[in-house]
Amino acid sequence: MTRYCCPGCGYTYDEARGDAHQGFAPGTTWAQIPAHWACPDCAVNEKVDFKPVDERGADAGN
Ligand SMILES: [Zn+2]
Repeated sequence: MTRYCCPGCGYTYDEARGDAHQGFAPGTTWAQIPAHWACPDCAVNEKVDFKPVDERGADAGN
């Protein structure tokens, strides 16, 4: 399971937890999130803008 962070506001989507407010059940993988889904917190960034969060705490890069 991976977490994905919004670069704008810091909202994090956790595959293991899902997001009940968004209708994503726990275990919903990132691949199952609709491509047009926008960040529920800032509504500025979309799925493509999110960056994977390294579980070990190190930034994935770029
Ligand atoms: Zn956001």
